[in-house]
Amino acid sequence: MSKLDRLARAADRTGVLRATSWLRQPLAARHLGAFGFHRLALRREDETFSDEIIDATPDEFRRFLGLVRRHGQSVELDRVFALARGEPEACSALRGTPVLITFDDGYRSCLDVALPLLLEFGMRATFFVPTAYIDERRVFWWDRLAYALKRSRVPRLELGQPWNLTLDLADRSRSTAEIGALLEHGRDLDREGFLDAVCEALGVPWDRALEAAIADELLLDWEGVEALAAAGMDVQSHTVTHRLLPTLGAEELAHELAGSRSQLEQRLGREVRALAYPSGYAIRGQPEIVAAVEETGYELGFTYGGGASPIHGFDPLNVKRMTIDPASSASMLALQVAWPSWSHEAARARGYPGPAS
Ligand SMILES: [Zn+2]
Repeated sequence: MSKLDRLARAADRTGVLRATSWLRQPLAARHLGAFGFHRLALRREDETFSDEIIDATPDEFRRFLGLVRRHGQSVELDRVFALARGEPEACSALRGTPVLITFDDGYRSCLDVALPLLLEFGMRATFFVPTAYIDERRVFWWDRLAYALKRSRVPRLELGQPWNLTLDLADRSRSTAEIGALLEHGRDLDREGFLDAVCEALGVPWDRALEAAIADELLLDWEGVEALAAAGMDVQSHTVTHRLLPTLGAEELAHELAGSRSQLEQRLGREVRALAYPSGYAIRGQPEIVAAVEETGYELGFTYGGGASPIHGFDPLNVKRMTIDPASSASMLALQVAWPSWSHEAARARGYPGPAS
């Protein structure tokens, strides 16, 4: 157990953590703690798809919402837009620790698991969806790869021309990371052809009918997305096809940014002005991408990268989000919700990877 974890447990057990949250409630907020989730599901030995994309079980998410209620103040995306525009009353009205809850990728569990819990707690979340996956019933590469690797009995992956790849499959997470790096960062890669070749070499059948059936099981369709919006949730863009923005040419970039936005606006009849960058890559220091994001009309861009954004003077196109670490103790998670910026800095100073990522 790390020193920080011991401190969190002591502060939690003695009531100090709760007292500090209570004392801070009437004070002006200093940081926005934004949290990002993907899929909510039980962690099962026989899980068919990616284990890494499951950030929390339904029970863990319920506990998280309880911590937000106890130590923070759930805020809606409209408030963050107002902060980004520098509206003075948006800043002055914020007290305690504001928490924004977000989900990426449009998994079915957003509707089936997260929505009922959010409604029970009276909280609104923001759901970032990549429109092509909703539209075309496709499956993300990480779920397809997990499905194939878990079913395969092949010890080594050997791909000939044009891929030229040999991979020892003994360590599944390492194999996933290596194939994932090629899929995410490879320029001019025929992704579909590459994934077809991987499945074939692994001896695991895959075709469009199977993919559509899996997509129906795993991901939202438009009806589901509309149901989230109708229930009062915010639905915003996660691009069209979830490609990493720095790997795209100018034309592809424009399509990924504008295509998802216009399709969501047409479907939902609401303005779409926020974007979560695929895989949470920050765009700071990449002026062409920043310009394209701004020109498309986005006012907020969300990254992963840990910690919290200062209420005054945060960069609206690089709003930081945290994930929750399933290995964290309940006290550590409470500390992360109550003091998002401090707990992140304290963890980093001690060379400890959690609680924020
Ligand atoms: Zn994503």
